Amino acid sequence: FLSIKNIRKTYGSVIAVEDVTLDIAKGEFLTFLGPSGSGKSTTLFAIAGFEAPTSGEVILDGQALLDIPSHKRNIGMVFQRYTLFPHLTVGENVAFPLRVRRKSASEIKSKVAEMLELVQLQDMADRLPSQMSGGQQQRVALARALAYDPPVLLMDEPLSALDKKLREEIQTQIRRIHKETGVTILYVTHDQEEALRLSDRIALFNQGRIEQVGTGHDLYFNPATRFVAGFIGNSN
Ligand code: ATP
Ligand code: MG
Repeated sequence: FLSIKNIRKTYGSVIAVEDVTLDIAKGEFLTFLGPSGSGKSTTLFAIAGFEAPTSGEVILDGQALLDIPSHKRNIGMVFQRYTLFPHLTVGENVAFPLRVRRKSASEIKSKVAEMLELVQLQDMADRLPSQMSGGQQQRVALARALAYDPPVLLMDEPLSALDKKLREEIQTQIRRIHKETGVTILYVTHDQEEALRLSDRIALFNQGRIEQVGTGHDLYFNPATRFVAGFIGNSN
């Protein structure tokens, strides 16, 4: 469904990502796990279209993505820091990608209501982001990312600015939303507990390469390398 082939990205003499190849099934929840600087975001940004890779291919549903500009790739995104428009209400934030796509007023209205219900914020449509907690803002960002039914959702450490309790609460919601919508999710975290809790499979990054891809169970019980054993086994 989504194929990443031989992605390589260099910044001058720095090799950020080296030969990353991965196939993601439709509806799968796959997590990029790995230490800081291991190439997770660089790989995700190549898929999103924010940063072109130096070489490699990304294919979604048979279509080569790298020649398509970011905003036309039909990929939803949520990042670590709240990236809501501060001057727009919650409802207007969620409506934004639908307005860009010139949906009708009635379609926008019903879709915004549906999305706010999905993230359980149906009573907050008229608030400004500054009047909400960090976790609520992240749920709005999630609602906005999913509003136009993208087949793929990318999330780069969406919960790392939140405290543990809130993080676990939203993890539960993300799992529910994944089940309800069937969207294919690529998730980035450096927290192995979070990866184990959320993912169908984990791709463990180290120094710009994928060390191993598999279920949490695979990585835990059959680590391919010493690095995998160390990273999954310890809580860092
Ligand atoms: P983190 O968990 O800290 O977010 P990451 O796994 O997402 O880390 P990347 O952001 O993909 O790591 O970075 C991979 C490597 O590429 C790092 O060594 C980083 O310093 C380097 N890098 C990333 N962006 C740039 C850039 N714009 N210019 C130069 N080097 C960069
Ligand atoms: Mg990163």
